[in-house]
Amino acid sequence: MNSSPEKTSPKGSNFLRPVMLLLLWIIIPGVVAEAQYFGRNKPSYRKFEFDVVQTPNFELYHYMKNDSLLKSISCWSENWYSMHQTIFRDTFLTRNPLIFYTTHADFQQTNTISSLIGTGTGGVTESLKNRVIMPVASSLAQTDHTLGHELVHAFQYNLFLNPDTMRKLSINNVPLWMIEGMAEYLSIGSVDPNTSIWMRDAILSNDFPTLKQLSTDSRYFPYRWGQSFWAMAGKTWGDTIIMPLLKKTAELGVNEAVKKVLGYEESTISALWRLASEEHYKKYLEGKSDSPVGRMVVSKANAGETNISPSISSDGKYLAFFSEKDLFTLDLFLADARTGKIIKKLSSVVRDNEIDDFNFIESAGTWSPDD
Ligand SMILES: [Zn+2]
Repeated sequence: MNSSPEKTSPKGSNFLRPVMLLLLWIIIPGVVAEAQYFGRNKPSYRKFEFDVVQTPNFELYHYMKNDSLLKSISCWSENWYSMHQTIFRDTFLTRNPLIFYTTHADFQQTNTISSLIGTGTGGVTESLKNRVIMPVASSLAQTDHTLGHELVHAFQYNLFLNPDTMRKLSINNVPLWMIEGMAEYLSIGSVDPNTSIWMRDAILSNDFPTLKQLSTDSRYFPYRWGQSFWAMAGKTWGDTIIMPLLKKTAELGVNEAVKKVLGYEESTISALWRLASEEHYKKYLEGKSDSPVGRMVVSKANAGETNISPSISSDGKYLAFFSEKDLFTLDLFLADARTGKIIKKLSSVVRDNEIDDFNFIESAGTWSPDD
């Protein structure tokens, strides 16, 4: 919807609406945290004694004992700030809060936001105080990336929730793939093996979406596709196109924005993006076919939509894996390794109260040696 100045409410009134927007960095698609916690309370096991460190543009809240890590995070924050600043051409008027938890389990207990946080959430940026809340990840590189990603959101909120611009711009006009894709593109860049896997697979499967499909069809994971789109736009028109396109989209929506800023209809831009991707990946696909070795044992036909972290028993007879087969949670199932037929559910977050979540992303199950 067009939010032209004459149609919006008086300056500043929207800014005070008691609605908190959240932008998350989600590590994997499909298993989104909130749904898994249906009917459960947020656990809180300990009280955190936070210290504050100030850098030129940030206030870093932490309770970490590791000075060198703290120093690294302070440096990364300022580096990201200056990198993002060149794109957004914007400054934070006050020091932006960064709240760091030492582990993901601690992060899940945060009381800075009320919503529940699942294993797949790598970080959160909330709109009211523009706070970035995140854990130290399992590697320094991942922590740095999540920080860079969330700080893009901090700049986005700084733009969209600024009383001077929000009369004209609305974040509601910007599709998620544009928001998250930008955060990925500006924190990873255009060369990314992970995104390349998705793109090659889409080309091979003849399932490359248009911009319209990206905005309306949830099958297309906004992070990877959005990053690919911005990488193409950056390569074609230069990164100086990012802000005009983002702002025009916030004003008029994607279709009108691409027409006005890039000079083509949405369908033409979609076709150009697809052709550029096909051209780029063609050389990697030559002589290859989509015929994986082996056979599918577990699929949505006999398990859930998401079936992950398989672990085979030492005698090769059984297979344990996580699946969201029973809708609300990710449970641990035991199956026949030959047929994939599920024998029983071994464990469930809902049934076993001492378990908050299965960390299927950074760890995998294993079998007892005597099994
Ligand atoms: Zn994000």
